[in-house]
Amino acid sequence: MSIKENLLVIKKNIPDTVTLVAVSKTKPMTYIQEAYDEGQRVFGENRVQEMTEKWENMAKDIEWHMIGHLQRNKVKYMAEYVSLVHGVDSPRLLSEINKQAEKHNRVISCLLQVHIAEEDTKFGFNEEELLDLVANEEFKAFKNVKIVGLMGMATFTDDMDQVRREFANLKLLFNKLKNNYTDFATLSMGMSGDYQIAIEEGSTMVRIGSSIFGSRN
Ligand SMILES: *Cc1c(COP(=O)(O)O)cnc(C)c1O
Repeated sequence: MSIKENLLVIKKNIPDTVTLVAVSKTKPMTYIQEAYDEGQRVFGENRVQEMTEKWENMAKDIEWHMIGHLQRNKVKYMAEYVSLVHGVDSPRLLSEINKQAEKHNRVISCLLQVHIAEEDTKFGFNEEELLDLVANEEFKAFKNVKIVGLMGMATFTDDMDQVRREFANLKLLFNKLKNNYTDFATLSMGMSGDYQIAIEEGSTMVRIGSSIFGSRN
């Protein structure tokens, strides 16, 4: 199937209220252009240098989302243009994003990454760290970042009950925070293999790569 056909299938499977991030990491700009020509405007990348090259060379109405693990020393290269940072997983990273955003007179939207998987290879806050962070006066005073929600990745497993449980836990946490933080509107969960479960469990944003652009090496 073509990128166009893949996109049509996925769009049919997700409600209008759920934002589709087309994950184009490792894929060439010709692929992104094909999706763009079908109306797709939101793309996800996991390497700053690759994303910046694509941003420089492609239409300026594309929204670039950083979805991967982010090193602090790379933030400065994307602060000018990045639309949403999904993987904020430390207070120091949030602080650096605030600092770099200020240099460009921007407010950068961020999602806090929550560790929901049972496997311990993934990055993210646990519940206690998360509640501490959002209550911290120093961080509340940041003027150039806006925390708009949470992001999580389920365990890489065939056990779909476990995946569902992990997503449901993240949604509970999201609801808890939403009551206190008016900016909280985005729950980024679900990838090619599990996005339908994620949507059933309350996702508002899915990050889909291989089901659109084909598998990666
Ligand atoms: C690569 C990646 C995706 C997309 O994965 P697919 O299985 O190809 O849909 C989603 N989220 C993150 C954080 C990723 O790194």
